[in-house]
Amino acid sequence: MPIANKDVTWVEEPEIGFWEATFLPAIFAGLKTTVRHVTHFQPVTEQFPEEKPTLPLHYRGVHRLNRDDQGRVKCVACMMCATACPARCITIEGAQAPWEDRDKYPSSFVIDELRCIYCGMCEEACPVDAIEMTHLYDLTGFSREEMIFDKEKLLGVFDQTKDSGRDPVRTQRGRLGPASDFEGLPALAPATSVRGDDRSARSVTAGVIQGTAVMESSWEQINEKIEKK
Ligand code: SF4
Ligand code: SF4
Repeated sequence: MPIANKDVTWVEEPEIGFWEATFLPAIFAGLKTTVRHVTHFQPVTEQFPEEKPTLPLHYRGVHRLNRDDQGRVKCVACMMCATACPARCITIEGAQAPWEDRDKYPSSFVIDELRCIYCGMCEEACPVDAIEMTHLYDLTGFSREEMIFDKEKLLGVFDQTKDSGRDPVRTQRGRLGPASDFEGLPALAPATSVRGDDRSARSVTAGVIQGTAVMESSWEQINEKIEKK
């Protein structure tokens, strides 16, 4: 499309005076800024490791495996955390629990802390609050093997952090955790009750919500087939 002259804004080059041509005003303005920073010095650099940073309460650091009231590992080897983990860095081997209050426990529980992206999905997924992330951030080691935390090491992190004040056990509801108490739940959970006007519940394809007209014709066809039978 051709551009009309009225669409163009012409900018006149400003004329530079004598003092501007010497650059002295710009040099003095720069010096003024430098002197202001020197005389009103306000450090923003954190002097780590001499000074420890103040971390937010929801900071996600090294994992721990929580113990229950009797000092046993709280985990019930349900694999929810390993399934939710996007980095695939949790490896669990379940075995029959030697205790009567649960079916399974982890005979082996390993997290590769180098592969972990510290997203927190594992602790969100855990139904019994057995895996939690702590405020420990300065994880160091001389080899990759040292960064692979097994069950004993993860339980050791719990022993190290549980009384620190920064990492309290988040929930202690129920015998093992919130998901293990089914007595208080209704026979049918809310998700199983579908309202009549809920079009998503009548979708013929998973994840696809059909338009009302399409759905009504689909239902008519289905009803016709049922009546023919
Ligand atoms: S924090 Fe994220 S990446 Fe790390 S173990 Fe948990 S789910 Fe996996
Ligand atoms: S989600 Fe919790 S209970 Fe299940 S395997 Fe992971 S840590 Fe254990």
